[in-house]
Amino acid sequence: MSQQKKTIHIISHTHWDREWYLPYEKHHYLLIEFMDQLIEILEADTDFKSFHLDGQTIILDDYLEVRPEKKKKIKRLIEDGRIHVGPWYVLQDEFLTSSEANIRNLQYGFKDARKWGSLSKIGYFPDSFGNMGQAPQILHQAGIKHAAFGRGVKPTGFNNLVGESDMYESPYSEMRWQAPDGSEVTGILFANWYCNGNEIPVERDLAKKYWDGHLEAMEKYAASDHFLMLNGCDHQPVQVDLSAAIRTAKELYPDYEFIHSNFNDYVNAIDRQLSKPKLKEVKGELRSQHTDGWGTLVNTASSRLYLKRMNHEVQTFLEKEVEPLATFAYLLGEDYDHDILEYAWKTLMQNHPHDSICGCSVDEVHREMVTRFEKSKHMAESLKQATLKKIGAKIDTSSFIQYSNQSVPFVLFNSTGLPKTGVATVEIDFIRSYFADGVNRKSIEEFDLDGYALVDLDGKEYAYHIDDVKIVFDYDLPKHQFRQPYLAKRATVSFEAKDVPSFSHRTFAFVQIAKSTKADERSIAQEANTLENNFLKVEINPNGSLTIFDKQTKEVFPNLLIYENSGDIGNEYMYKQASEDLPITTEDSEASVELIENTSIRATYEIIHQWEIPESAEAMLQQEQQQLVGFNTRKSKRSNKKILLTITTKVSLEKNGTGVNVEVTYDNNAKDHRLRVLFPTTIESSHHYADSIFEVAKRNNVPSEEWTNPDYSQHQQAFVSMHNDVKGITIANKGLNEYEILRDKANTIAITLLRAVGELGDWGYFPTPEAQCLGAHKASFKIFPHIGNRNREIVYHDAYQYAVPWSTLQLPVQTGELSGNYQYFSYKSDHPIAQTSLKVATNKKDVMIRFFNMMDQPGSLEIKANPLIDTKYESNVIEEKVNEWIDKHQINLKPYEIKTIGMIPNRKK
Ligand SMILES: [Zn+2]
Repeated sequence: MSQQKKTIHIISHTHWDREWYLPYEKHHYLLIEFMDQLIEILEADTDFKSFHLDGQTIILDDYLEVRPEKKKKIKRLIEDGRIHVGPWYVLQDEFLTSSEANIRNLQYGFKDARKWGSLSKIGYFPDSFGNMGQAPQILHQAGIKHAAFGRGVKPTGFNNLVGESDMYESPYSEMRWQAPDGSEVTGILFANWYCNGNEIPVERDLAKKYWDGHLEAMEKYAASDHFLMLNGCDHQPVQVDLSAAIRTAKELYPDYEFIHSNFNDYVNAIDRQLSKPKLKEVKGELRSQHTDGWGTLVNTASSRLYLKRMNHEVQTFLEKEVEPLATFAYLLGEDYDHDILEYAWKTLMQNHPHDSICGCSVDEVHREMVTRFEKSKHMAESLKQATLKKIGAKIDTSSFIQYSNQSVPFVLFNSTGLPKTGVATVEIDFIRSYFADGVNRKSIEEFDLDGYALVDLDGKEYAYHIDDVKIVFDYDLPKHQFRQPYLAKRATVSFEAKDVPSFSHRTFAFVQIAKSTKADERSIAQEANTLENNFLKVEINPNGSLTIFDKQTKEVFPNLLIYENSGDIGNEYMYKQASEDLPITTEDSEASVELIENTSIRATYEIIHQWEIPESAEAMLQQEQQQLVGFNTRKSKRSNKKILLTITTKVSLEKNGTGVNVEVTYDNNAKDHRLRVLFPTTIESSHHYADSIFEVAKRNNVPSEEWTNPDYSQHQQAFVSMHNDVKGITIANKGLNEYEILRDKANTIAITLLRAVGELGDWGYFPTPEAQCLGAHKASFKIFPHIGNRNREIVYHDAYQYAVPWSTLQLPVQTGELSGNYQYFSYKSDHPIAQTSLKVATNKKDVMIRFFNMMDQPGSLEIKANPLIDTKYESNVIEEKVNEWIDKHQINLKPYEIKTIGMIPNRKK
């Protein structure tokens, strides 16, 4: 066998952060310059074979927005294989966007790349701050067999450390990367970073020096004879003399083969040569666990937390309300507006690139993000409103006429895939007076809300509480008429809805019958500073912390909800505790406690902490920043000057609540600090669980030996959970993406509420005064005590459910084709599975539902027969048909499998 020449695959690319150390439009200007030049060189130089356009299709949209006349040229270059695009829409942060947002990013990226005429089949994560464990499964399902990433794994070669046999280390830049379900892709780590072939010299002497160093560096990590050399870097302009540089290299090194390559050719070449056993296997999440912990960038999870909260709100709204409700309407024969949803999703996903959602850019970038969140939300709200109206028009409420013609019906939707019990709050207009009829303000003012009872379709009466009544101005915007303004007497009413089935609606009405005064109207706060229902007893301590008694396990959790504050002299990427700084806490403080709501369905205490904290870091920090002193060698302490931080905490318990709701509001006036809330779990365990992307990830409480950073913060999605066989505690959250397990005896869960810093960090000094997050903030979380390992999945379901509110719509008394109580669709599983989406397939007519298996045991799932569904099939994350449906209703799930099911609707006409 003849010795094969070693081949250098030079792949031209640019890593295009759409916004980062410059505002969006300034990078955009440079992008236009860049694309103009790229087209020019590709047309002029046929030796310049091809260019990899950074794995994200959005930059083509960005360019064409300004130069629409270039569309044809670009399409031709893509079809000819000169420009490689996709598979993503944006280069997202994997951990700070939801499971479904990661999938939408791939779906729209695929759709757009195919429209352009080509698709780069590589899971491209060049700059991701760590990689989600299920990425190999997601990519595998999409037919992608390779992933390239820049972070998350430390090959043994780094710093010449040859570690013990450690599952996260690989001797090569190529490795087998396995998802928890066993799906595998070939992982390619940019061991010498994605700039390792940048600016290749043409001139012989310079080229010799360059290549000697670079060839040695590549040989060190490459498992095959094919070396990957990325000709480009962050916002790197095209190297116009690259063809000449390659000619020089060929002359200098006849023993090597140099080709101007692309990822598709490169992965084919390594596949032909690499045998699987040679490569080491890495499993699951790649979070840089085996590094010193100083460069993981995990604290971007707490940078500008207001953005994470907004992102959580909008993505949950799209996934768990708008899409399922639009699917209900679709099953009833209405159109599904793919275009509006694509627009709302894409507008949201423009906030998902790693430098955007991570909060690690300059202030202008993040200001624009706030507007994008609002734009996406407003479009989605309009679609939801229109959808509810269409469904509402079909719902029969005529039976409420039996009480009187003054009955006020409304419908409550559970758009989630889980049954729901809890307090629902609805806004009801008891009387309206349209301007067109001449407003009669007096009749509205005098309208009496007494004498109404709340009943369901069976006539069952519900206790309710009026939270607020006011006279409001509002208007209708009819589809075929001019706007219709009115005044209304509007009440905000709360009641408890119990066991509302998944994917269903229920109809209720306020009717004029004598309200019965029931005996079970026992309020929830019976004793001073105490909340109690059948499941929990919560005591509020003088320092404002909670002691929760779990009636099922008889376990007590004391000292929950202590606030902690420490100095932060780091930057948007990294937390660094101020020098000689001990965190302060509210443990020894005294809080004011007041009962502000106490009904039979819910009670709430308001706890106020008046807390003095240092106003900022010493002035020295600014000098250190300006002098580019690395954050981990800074010496700044916190200032001696104190200012007041007033934290208002509302703690609520519902009648049948299995968790304690907490809403925190405060005005931040301090700089350079971190605020967290602590939950000492008192649970002995070596590990904990965190909700991640299609995975409830099991993580060790103690970092690896190499880890020297005192902070060991981690990412979370919906919750973090600690339990052993006896007891457990799970904290669900809304957009609080960072937590840490404090490795004291109590195994305390610390959740970051705020991180305030003054600079971007990274490669220079970029001041970011708005990253100090001055002003009003809000945080929401829910504390669930539970029984150890046995029923943790029930609590996980409660935690997922916590994020999604009820949807409500007031209706007239009307006849309709649709029953007032109706379940659109249902499934059943005895196994711990989580349902993540219900929508109509992009470009298709089928209804798609997705689940994942939360456990390491196989399970099954039953889709119940339904007149609205014709046939079902097994699908994948890009909504293709994979298998016929074999069993009549049942489908099997492998451990940790992500399962998408396609359903052909039998639409009512
Ligand atoms: Zn980047």
